[in-house]
Amino acid sequence: MMELKEIELLIKAISKFPGLGPKSAKRIILKLINNKDEIMKPTINAMANVYKNISRCNYCGALKSFKDGCSGYKNCENLQKKFTKICVVENVADQWCIESTNIFKGYFHILGGTISGSIEKEQRLIIASLVERVKKQNIEEVIVATSATVEGQTTAFFIEETLKNINVKISKLAQGLPVGGEIESLDDGTLFSAFKNRTKL
Ligand SMILES: [Zn+2]
Repeated sequence: MMELKEIELLIKAISKFPGLGPKSAKRIILKLINNKDEIMKPTINAMANVYKNISRCNYCGALKSFKDGCSGYKNCENLQKKFTKICVVENVADQWCIESTNIFKGYFHILGGTISGSIEKEQRLIIASLVERVKKQNIEEVIVATSATVEGQTTAFFIEETLKNINVKISKLAQGLPVGGEIESLDDGTLFSAFKNRTKL
């Protein structure tokens, strides 16, 4: 079957979304085309706004808006609430996941991945800023919530090493985490108990 060039390009782009293949991409595109004003237009506008205005803060790793900066209680500028804990996660999806369980009240520090054999410059920066946040914000506990994968555990070890000369409690999620378990894929119950039973490093 021949697709129109425009449609073909859109299918290609949407097929790259997580969890979608060409088949569901086609269904989405048809839905958009059949609802140009109700769905397609607001989607394009919302996407353009995110493209223009949203980026990662290179100090705490959270998503921030150019307009408001990295404000809000969980971030690093204009801190409205005072917390004594920082939870270190690999990515924003993990942060959202932990927030939705309501077990943790504190700041987040988002690494943007794990530390592999060669540490990327960007990740080194974000770990340097973690050290700075711990000191500046008088943090009492750093909870390392990286995945139960080799990369995640290597990252946890690296963070522990980096913070060991600072007077701060460092803890890690409990062993209840299934081996190879990514935070994002855990159910709320498992995440809850892993947090509750976290161990001191
Ligand atoms: Zn920030």
